[in-house]
Amino acid sequence: MDLGSFTEICVHQLRMSGVQSDEQLVVLTQGDDRLDYANAFMAASRVLGASMVHLRLPAPPPTGVWAVGQTALASMPEVVESLKAFDMLIDCVFLLFSPEQMAIQAAGTRILTVVEPPELLARMPPSIELREKVEAAAAILSSAKVMHVTSRHGTDVVYQLNAYPTISEYACTDEPGRWDHWPSGFVFTGASDDGVDGTIVVAPGDVLLPQNTYVRSPVTYKIDRGLVTDISGGLESDLINSYMASFNDERGRAMSHIGWGMNPDAKWHAMSPGLFPGGMGMEPRSFIGNVLFSTGPNNELGGSNDTACHLDIPLRACSLLLDDEPVILDGRIVHRDLI
Ligand code: FE
Repeated sequence: MDLGSFTEICVHQLRMSGVQSDEQLVVLTQGDDRLDYANAFMAASRVLGASMVHLRLPAPPPTGVWAVGQTALASMPEVVESLKAFDMLIDCVFLLFSPEQMAIQAAGTRILTVVEPPELLARMPPSIELREKVEAAAAILSSAKVMHVTSRHGTDVVYQLNAYPTISEYACTDEPGRWDHWPSGFVFTGASDDGVDGTIVVAPGDVLLPQNTYVRSPVTYKIDRGLVTDISGGLESDLINSYMASFNDERGRAMSHIGWGMNPDAKWHAMSPGLFPGGMGMEPRSFIGNVLFSTGPNNELGGSNDTACHLDIPLRACSLLLDDEPVILDGRIVHRDLI
């Protein structure tokens, strides 16, 4: 995307994130990645009269593995300290799940993750409508005690809630210390650590992230007291088992966040590695009416599991009930507060 167009959508983003002319902002990149993002955000902040600096970290060693929570900042405590002084951090690296991100947020700096391709940022801009819908969903989720998810493919799983806070993602952030991710549009929380039981069937067309693939044949997860005890099925179950085993970390078998998508701009069918090389799947995470379940860490929610083994799996056409009240039926949002 040319700098002018990229700058334009970044101006919209910074306005939606409440950036004021007296604020100090920083944009973080690493290696040769996303230098054009830094240029666009610097130009955008100039339009709004705010000051922004660009901090560029050295390139990480090439591992080929998406190990969440491990960043170059871990060995640079003095840099983490300096980042705490800013009003807002634009994170073009992906600090999520890292202790460094948590420390920066705790100091009051708001953080926006921006790593998806510019074309997708343009197609899924933040809006007041999206924020209102997501906040309404968060209000419903945060007051629920039990979540029951079913599907005609055989999913039947119960999450005991109220152990962890509810997190909303609506693609911008204007509150001190709050984190968000552009693009997004969903809500999630976590069950108590031993509070998930049942079966999840990942059906054809559901999405494996970070593999960025659609599932072709069903994959059946058996879950007992918050731990995945078995994953079986065809090729994709082998992929999942092999990927998880490569971390050599049993904590990867824990259940992580659970929630649902609220963004009508996100299309289930649009995930295309060819079209958006380098994308990390925020579109399938966000499409309206999905149920997004995940395995691995829960430190993002305040839990103690900080394993680097993390899968996010958006499911289609599920029904989701909170305390027996339907929120989603067969992939359609039906709750009166969300329509
Ligand atoms: Fe996740």
